[in-house]
Amino acid sequence: MSGGLNLGGDTLTRNAFIPGYKSPEFRPTPCVKIARERNSSCMAKVAFIGLGVMGYPMARHLAQRGKHDVTVYNRTGAKAEKWVADHGGKSAPTPQAAAEGADFVFTCVGNDNDLRQVTIGPDGAFAGMKAGAIYIDNTTASANVARELYDAAKTKGFASLDAPVSGGQAGAENGQLTVMVGGDADTFETAKPIIDSFAKMVGLMGPAGSGQLTKMVNQLCIAGLVQGVAEGIHFAKRAGLDVEKVIGVISKGAAQSWQMENRYKTMAAGKFDFGFAVDWMRKDLAITLEEARRNGAKLPVAALIDQFYAEVQAMGGNRWDTSSLIARLEHNQP
Ligand code: NAP
Repeated sequence: MSGGLNLGGDTLTRNAFIPGYKSPEFRPTPCVKIARERNSSCMAKVAFIGLGVMGYPMARHLAQRGKHDVTVYNRTGAKAEKWVADHGGKSAPTPQAAAEGADFVFTCVGNDNDLRQVTIGPDGAFAGMKAGAIYIDNTTASANVARELYDAAKTKGFASLDAPVSGGQAGAENGQLTVMVGGDADTFETAKPIIDSFAKMVGLMGPAGSGQLTKMVNQLCIAGLVQGVAEGIHFAKRAGLDVEKVIGVISKGAAQSWQMENRYKTMAAGKFDFGFAVDWMRKDLAITLEEARRNGAKLPVAALIDQFYAEVQAMGGNRWDTSSLIARLEHNQP
């Protein structure tokens, strides 16, 4: 079969975002149902709001890999114009206008307040969304705002998923993000083939808010580990060891981690321009520590690392990447 996919008599244009279409487990996804209803290729009408470091390439994958019809909105209009010039599609003057008529509406903005502004604020996306559509939020935000938006969406007759991502700028550029989703199972099944456009792993973690709670676990598992790698490299230097040799050996043993393998060179060299910013990590730790105050989890290391990051900020490191924890260990040292 060249370029066509036969599903029970209908032939649809083959699209990369139909996952597993070659495998025996393949079954028509709800997205394929959309295509069937339209008697056309498997394409959805998608809005993407927030073309930052992450959103810009994520929207590109929806257009190029997913072959969806994408309308973008960005607060700073020039970025949206550039996106359209680079990738086609359309830009809209407000989140509401972007969302009008869309089957799927994505957001990827900064924090809870930004998210409220672009969804339920004036000219927000929720005012434009049609009944039966699906709203998907890729911002790292609180579980509370995820539940709030889930309820607001339900009242208006559409569905909502919180779907924060992990994998950083490189993961967004390569379309290899991990996506942690909270919401209803049937909504997830419908949205997953669309999210697959920019992801290597998409998991439903539980009801609304569970995606954000899972992202908090992700950040907890990273924060202490980065401090451990920082202390290890710092100690190796003070002990007069060859850092390159040390990591070359211990990264083959139980101390191995992604942070060690990917960040040790730049950490040892004091270079911190490689992704996720300290300001963002402090935002994530703040919502995590707040959630822990509610659920009773004990997070002594996370609380301490949060203060270490505050010191990095005081050193001017707001936009340094998170491996800059080593900088405060080496601050004012001979
Ligand atoms: P970013 O580059 O700073 O982009 C933020 C985007 O949100 C921009 O498009 C910005 O518009 C828009 N925005 C912010 N506040 C807004 C508001 N009040 N109204 C309308 N638009 C607003 O951030 P990012 O790195 O893409 O991160 C986005 C989210 O993903 C954050 O929650 C972050 O924690 C999370 N995340 C980031 C990474 C990473 O490695 N960067 C990894 C995983 C998760 P303007 O262009 O007008 O400023």
